[in-house]
Amino acid sequence: MSNNPWQRALSQLQKTLELTDTHPDLHHRLKEPDNVVEVNVPVTMDSGETKTFRGYRVQHNNMRGPYKGGLRFHPQVDLDEAKALAFWMTMKNAVIGVPFGGGKGGIEVDPKELSGGELERLTRNFARELAHVIGPEKDVPAPDVGSTAQMMHWIADEYSKHVGEDAPAVVTGKPVEHGGSEGRTEATGYGGGYALEAILVKLGKETGTVAIQGFGNVGLYFAHYAASRGFKIVALSDSKGGIYAPEGIDVSAAETYKKGTGTLLGCAGTDISNEEILALPVDILVPAALENAITKENASHVQAKVILELANGPTTIEADDVLKERGIVVIPDILANAGGVAVSYFEWEQNRAGERWAKDDVLARLKEKMEMAAAKVWNESIEKNITLRDAAYVVALRSLGEVKQG
Ligand code: GLU
Repeated sequence: MSNNPWQRALSQLQKTLELTDTHPDLHHRLKEPDNVVEVNVPVTMDSGETKTFRGYRVQHNNMRGPYKGGLRFHPQVDLDEAKALAFWMTMKNAVIGVPFGGGKGGIEVDPKELSGGELERLTRNFARELAHVIGPEKDVPAPDVGSTAQMMHWIADEYSKHVGEDAPAVVTGKPVEHGGSEGRTEATGYGGGYALEAILVKLGKETGTVAIQGFGNVGLYFAHYAASRGFKIVALSDSKGGIYAPEGIDVSAAETYKKGTGTLLGCAGTDISNEEILALPVDILVPAALENAITKENASHVQAKVILELANGPTTIEADDVLKERGIVVIPDILANAGGVAVSYFEWEQNRAGERWAKDDVLARLKEKMEMAAAKVWNESIEKNITLRDAAYVVALRSLGEVKQG
């Protein structure tokens, strides 16, 4: 049951309610999403045949502002996953202090199996199906696993046609030339770096060796940031497996190698599996791929002292208990990976004000937001003697509880 992300979200909610004195009404508001939209998206494939894909948009809660969260294009997408991811967005947005609620959606598809044309038709058709439920003041999607800035542009374009005017603020994470924000691509990875450094200072630690599971947009930019700050990246992996080089990995070389060959295997050091990367003798472990990476079975093999959750929901509940018992500090997803949505908020603000902020400015604001949120969560954990995860949920729930109930 704990591997079902929605059941996991509900038990975390229950646990947090017991740690806070929030009004019982809040529980009722949060234990089910406000709205669930399920659609069938027909697409004409290059072969001429029509294929239908299953798509979802879950609007979990909008007490703090419009629903906000990504659209995932992945074969594993289903309703319970989308519900959990939407719930985590509600909590994440409350922790990082952006005026949004939580939403999430996606399509059950492997985008790697589609041609460019098929992907564009799928995305545009999906956007048309969702056009009546999204909007700059209503629900603002963004990229997630398997979706790109280009796809966000197609969605903005379809939505703009639907409402009959240019409406770039309906999605974030767009290409910079189409109203996207400078720094959005780097935001989740860099934000994770800022949060990590803020917590390490509190722990009296500085730098260290790092293993990163997941080398998509998030893992890649985190790796670049961490390397630039003197951390030694010793292991990297993606869905095909990875590499371990105790002497350190040149991140740019690994990026180029992967672009050329489609894999990290053989790039440097020794080839390792996605499971082996979790058990390496490193200081910091960074799950940056999908849910349920760290389980009851492998949590006892983790050697890192600190885990930075750049993926959403990478640790099961049982694994969390094992890590706590073993004194491993977990910087929870709803804090660690909030940098993406923080810069999504900056993008939304820029679109609405017709402004364009410089990259340095965006990153400085991101750093400030991540450090403030990390300090709040840290202080709460010290005050209540609870884990950083429980503390992050307490901070989120308190913020939600402060909103006037309508
Ligand atoms: N998909 C990202 C996340 O899980 C970003 C969401 C957004 O920017 O709205 O946080």
